[in-house]
Amino acid sequence: MIPLVESFYSFQGEGKFVGSPSVFIRLGGCNLGCAGFGVKLGGLVGCDSIKAVNQEHFGDTWEKVDNLIPTINEYIKELEFKPDIVFTGGEPLLHYQNPILLEALSHFQEHRITFETNATIEIDFEKYPNYKNITFAMSVKLENSGEAKLKRINHQAINAIVKNTKESFFKFVLSKKDVETKEIEAITKPYQSTKIYCMPMGSTAKELAENDKAVANFCIKKGYNYVDRMHIRLWDNEEGR
Ligand code: SF4
Repeated sequence: MIPLVESFYSFQGEGKFVGSPSVFIRLGGCNLGCAGFGVKLGGLVGCDSIKAVNQEHFGDTWEKVDNLIPTINEYIKELEFKPDIVFTGGEPLLHYQNPILLEALSHFQEHRITFETNATIEIDFEKYPNYKNITFAMSVKLENSGEAKLKRINHQAINAIVKNTKESFFKFVLSKKDVETKEIEAITKPYQSTKIYCMPMGSTAKELAENDKAVANFCIKKGYNYVDRMHIRLWDNEEGR
C-alpha cells in the first residue's frame, strides 16, 4: 500500500522543467511541517501542500493504492508522446523503499521522472539503483519555513543525491523579506556544479506578485535562475493543477 493524495495531468509549473507536460503523483506524508509558509486551512498552518502533509487531519482522504501503474497509465494512454512523471508530496522519499513505488519507476523508466523532495532523506543508492536514473528537484528548506536548521538541512542526503544521480538541481522559495539571505550560498557551496532556481513565495497569483520582482532582482544579483510558479500564476492553488 502507498498513500496517494491526488494524481493529475498538467504541466510542470516550477523548476528546471517548467512548462513540460507532466503526470503528477502526490504521495502522502512529510517529515517537516513548514508552518513558516503560513498557508491556513481548517485551523492548521503549513505549506501549500498541507493536505498531503498532515496525516492526522487529512489521512482519511488519502487513497491507499497497491499499484501506481494503472493510475499513471490512465493519463498517458491516449497521448502520442511520453510526458514527464513527477512524484511530489508531502515528501515522496518517505516511500522510497516501497515496492509499489519501485515497480512504477521500473515500468516508466523511458519517461523523464522527477522527484520533488526536501532532500532530507538519505537514499541508499547501492541498494536502490533505480534512483540513479531519476532527476531530483531538491527544495531544501530555508529559515523562512519555520523549521529547525538541523531538521531541514541534511548534507549527507543532498550529497548522496548530487553524487549518484544523473541530474539534480536546487529549488528555493523566497519572499521579498528573504532576499538578504546568505543561506542559499551556505547550503549550496559544496555543490558548485548544481544549478540553483529561486521562486517567489505565494499560494495565489496575488501573493506571488508581492514577491516576484524582489526575488527576480535577487537572482540577477546572485547569478541564480529565476523561475516563476506558473500553475499558481494561472490557477492560484486550485487542486489538480
Ligand atoms: S517539506 Fe515541502 S511538503 Fe513538507 S511541509 Fe515543507 S513545504 Fe510542505
